[in-house]
Amino acid sequence: MTTQPDPLPPIELAAPDISVHRAGNIGVDYVSSFDSGKPGPHVMLQALTHGNELCGAIVLDELLRAGLRPAAGRLTVAFANTQAYANWNPADPDVSRFVDEDYNRVWSDEVLSGPRDSVELRRARELGGFVARADYLLDIHSMREPCPPLMVCGVAGRGGEKGAAMARRMGVPRHLLIDTGHPAGPRMIEHGGYSQPASPRTAVLIECGQHWERASVDVARETVRRFLDVTGVLDYGRSAWTGDAPARALPSPGGQDDDAPRVVRVTHAVVARSLSFRFAGDYRGLEVIERAGDPIAYDGEETIRAPYDRTVLVMPSKAHLRIGNTMVRLGRFDD
Ligand SMILES: [Zn+2]
Repeated sequence: MTTQPDPLPPIELAAPDISVHRAGNIGVDYVSSFDSGKPGPHVMLQALTHGNELCGAIVLDELLRAGLRPAAGRLTVAFANTQAYANWNPADPDVSRFVDEDYNRVWSDEVLSGPRDSVELRRARELGGFVARADYLLDIHSMREPCPPLMVCGVAGRGGEKGAAMARRMGVPRHLLIDTGHPAGPRMIEHGGYSQPASPRTAVLIECGQHWERASVDVARETVRRFLDVTGVLDYGRSAWTGDAPARALPSPGGQDDDAPRVVRVTHAVVARSLSFRFAGDYRGLEVIERAGDPIAYDGEETIRAPYDRTVLVMPSKAHLRIGNTMVRLGRFDD
């Protein structure tokens, strides 16, 4: 038996026309930045780090059209990989992820200031100053597989803990990830002070659910509201730019209810070594394998087994089976 890619999930979302935001107000295409005139942090919201992830574009388009402005500090709203997004095609929805390379793997000083060139590097060099100057950054993403929402808080010992602390204050989503980064290169949330534990600057990355499912927009909207609230640039109750009520009351600090956020620490990456890689179950992500030694996947002659009790599966990939690709990451709950 070989692993066949899952059929394409249905496309429930329409890609918004964001051309009205192109001019922006600060001299860089698709960047708008608003100063409240009052003291406060510089908060940055970013969508379209990956050009086929629609929910962030939908929510930031709504927010800009509604004329939302910060009550304190500065709010910067950016659409990142707009060149990739211009290639959006619902009949081939993976093609607009990037043009030349993954925009979210180029965020080292060496690469950004080095001689290499690509569509994504040019854009990263345009937006790099905003990313470097913001006190708080929310990078809005979605996932290829239908997985519950999760917050990527950063790398253990390199900013992941302060990201998780911020996500706990936000109270959403339920699952917070402290991971090991990507060998292909650092993400925006690891750039500069974001990855320095002593720096107050904090960045988090929300994975809102499957790329094209309607619910991902609700997750993105609620996450943006709470991010604006905890960073202090806008009250939660006043950040309802669509007119509808916030999804639910903010959790009480230290709340112990079943929905209280939980941190998953990634410890292992499982890489495909053959084209016969297949999972032992129909995993969607965040399943818990109860016992050490239980099978997770089969790869050629090898059985990949849970390294410890209560192993958590993080973002299993069924769409991108290639030798050398990370197929799933494994982690454990902090508590
Ligand atoms: Zn993404």
